[in-house]
Parts: sequence; structure tokens; C-alpha cells
Amino acid sequence: MVHRVHIGIGSNLGNRRAHYQKALELIAALPKTRIIKRSSLYESEPHGDAKNWYVNGVIEIETEFLPDKLLQRLQAIEQAMGRKKTPQTKKWASRKIDLDILLFENQTLDTRTLKIPHPEIQHRRFVLVPLSELAPHLTHPRLGVTIVELLAHLKDNKRVMLLPPHAE
Ligand code: AMP
Repeated sequence: MVHRVHIGIGSNLGNRRAHYQKALELIAALPKTRIIKRSSLYESEPHGDAKNWYVNGVIEIETEFLPDKLLQRLQAIEQAMGRKKTPQTKKWASRKIDLDILLFENQTLDTRTLKIPHPEIQHRRFVLVPLSELAPHLTHPRLGVTIVELLAHLKDNKRVMLLPPHAE
């Protein structure tokens, strides 16, 4: 069975756009998976301790993987791209690439390792802005309101700026 999934992508280390593109290539190369839509890229002010601004975006994929298998595949991509994963890794530490499962159709899941929808969607402008490009009228399965409604009520004041398509 094919599932529609939204994935958040972010990088704030080194050549951020190159890392973003590489992650897209590696996701597109996964078996039983294809990229359906890509948002624009945005540059976003970091939360927490990180100093470097992020390059962020969201993609929509079709995949036959179930949520836990998809998470394993995405984590393998993060590791292949050199993201250091240690117990000391801080929540908002800088990273070459960060891949989050935002929405997995209208499923809800709450395990130790995987929470779907991603619990921070409604608090993050850098997620809601690109997600609203792809799925403005999609209803959040737990909150029962659409992505544009979440964006309209958002309190996050961190800056999120559209990147021109070919800027460095
Ligand atoms: P982060 O540092 O933001 O990449 O968080 C990674 C951790 O969040 C991993 O250990 C995952 O098991 C966990 N996690 C829980 N829900 C999700 C989700 N929806 N997408 C990605 N990682 C998740």
C-alpha cells in the first residue's frame, strides 16, 4: 500500500543547500518511494543554542514503507551524511541534515521513538510555512485544524525567509 507522507528537511552546517539537495537525492533513491512535491527553500533563524541559520523545506513523498521503517531509512540517510548522533547531541544542536516525519497520511502514533504527527509542527514557523505551500488545507489529524489555520495562530516569532531558487 502506498502512503502519502510529509517530511521536513533542515541543514545548518557547511554548504546547507548542497546537503539539502543530497538528502533529496537519497530520499528519491529509496526503494518503494518517490518524491511527489517539493516546497521552496527557506532560510530560518535557529531556535535554542544553535547560531547558524538553517536552510529548511518540506517534501511530500509516496512510499510503501510503514512509519517505523521509514524513520529507520531517514535516520540511515542522516548518518550517511555525517550527522553525529551521540547521547550528548543536544536537541537543537547544529546538524548537516535533519529529517523529520511531519505527517503520515492521517495516522497518529505515539511511541518512544516515533511520534506522528511530529509534535512540534504547530509551534514552528520553519515547518508551517513550507508545509502550507504543499498542503494548506490538509487537516492536522490530532488538532483538527488545517495547516493554514495553524499558521494563522502561530506564536513563533523566529524569522523564516524565502530563498531565491538559485541563490547560494
Ligand atoms: P531530532 O534530533 O529532532 O532529529 O530528533 C530525533 C529523535 O526524534 C529520534 O530519536 C526519533 O526517534 C525521534 N522522533 C520522534 N518522532 C519523530 C518523527 N516524527 N520524525 C523523526 N524523528 C522522530
